[in-house]
Amino acid sequence: MKRFTLEQPALFTKEMKATHTILVPQMLPIHFAIMKSVLMDSGYRVEIIDHAGAEIAQTGLRYVHNDTCYPALLIIGQLISILQSGAYDLNHVALMIPQSGGGCRASNYIHLLRKALHKAGLEHIPVVSFNMNLGGKNGIESAPGFTLNPMLLVKLAAAMIFGDELMSLGNQVRPYEACEGETDKVLAQWIEEINTLLRRNYGYWPWQMKRLATRIAQSFAAIAIRDVQRTKVGVVGEIYVRYSSLGNNGLEEFLQKQDCECCIPGVLGYLMFSVDMRLEDIRAYGGSSLKYAGVNACLSYLAWIEGMLISAIGQTSLQPPTPYQHKRELVDGIIGHGSKMGEGWMLTAEMLELIEQGYNNIVCAQPFGCLPNHINGRGMMNRVKEVQPQANIVAVDYDPGAPRVNQENRIMLMLAGANQEVGIRQEEQQANRAELFAEALRRQQERMKQIPELLSNPFMHSLHGDNSSDG
Ligand code: SF4
Repeated sequence: MKRFTLEQPALFTKEMKATHTILVPQMLPIHFAIMKSVLMDSGYRVEIIDHAGAEIAQTGLRYVHNDTCYPALLIIGQLISILQSGAYDLNHVALMIPQSGGGCRASNYIHLLRKALHKAGLEHIPVVSFNMNLGGKNGIESAPGFTLNPMLLVKLAAAMIFGDELMSLGNQVRPYEACEGETDKVLAQWIEEINTLLRRNYGYWPWQMKRLATRIAQSFAAIAIRDVQRTKVGVVGEIYVRYSSLGNNGLEEFLQKQDCECCIPGVLGYLMFSVDMRLEDIRAYGGSSLKYAGVNACLSYLAWIEGMLISAIGQTSLQPPTPYQHKRELVDGIIGHGSKMGEGWMLTAEMLELIEQGYNNIVCAQPFGCLPNHINGRGMMNRVKEVQPQANIVAVDYDPGAPRVNQENRIMLMLAGANQEVGIRQEEQQANRAELFAEALRRQQERMKQIPELLSNPFMHSLHGDNSSDG
């Protein structure tokens, strides 16, 4: 049997496309449901791993150094523990994780995962890097059996856009729905329909996407809602921890149970930020003009489909996302665009975007060992509050030793502040209503006082006299 080392790891070959199941750790349930279908239509056998439980972090700690950032620890722990569970044939399985290509550790998770596989005696299992760098440069890997050709990339981009739209609209409508479960029903129907349409090669070109995105927005806007008040809460933070319920201990569900309307910015903004930062690199450090033109064309394409999504949602009563260019401008004078590790300045921009959209209460999800997000998230909270004094932000730490109850208590404390605000606003509204009522009463009384004067008015008398003579 062939021996695999860290220098010469097991590769995902072309033949494995037909024989191996690729396991992908769950992060975004709506997006991944559509992306999985796109990959399966391209001939890959893909399964999304939802495996949860307290033992995952412990498995991660056993196979990864304990100063590794929490998302890497969880993802690796989840994959090793599903392999050890006996649920899959270990000779016909491969793993897939994203490789960001930036300066952050997300580019090196793949090496940590291979080390963990060696430690667990599973080094024969190939690991596939999911990335946009088709050339396999800058430490970014390519596998002979997995190719993201331009057509597949366009379809995956469409899956991501529809995922963003469904997630955003679902979150806006669900807390107010008149008939419980209606939003999730519409959402499930759309996932199925999008999968069918993409399979029939419809819905991934911008003009088709626009038509489909408009229909989606209209169907969510048509869901009957109740006139109830909800606390608006935005969620920002490191990309894995803010989206993955395994990473954030079911944060979204917890907020919904607290009668909140939750807003989590979509993936498109992060993707545009990542592409834009490649341009920033070329501008700062040099690079070929051909590469610059290629990356710029990619950013323009994303801006185009972003515009399409904004216009589709903007035709309804629901709130569309903010254009990327505006988010970029929001941080001018607050944080430099050179701060680009991890989520970079985008995290600060998203807090400002949320406040602009009325989500003054913000949970900033901070994973253990994540320096970039401690700088751009927790580190920028005071500055954000200086610019937007109504901001009510709480940073919540996620790590293997942080008890869930502590995290929820911190959020409850933030919500108590928010509800106080709502209470003050309601009192103000009541006070305003009382003032208006008093003013209306005063004017009414003044009019009443004027009646005898009016009756004694000669003009009124003459009218009265004329009328009586007529009668
Ligand atoms: S952004 Fe933070 S959590 Fe994510 S890979 Fe980088 S250091 Fe780790």
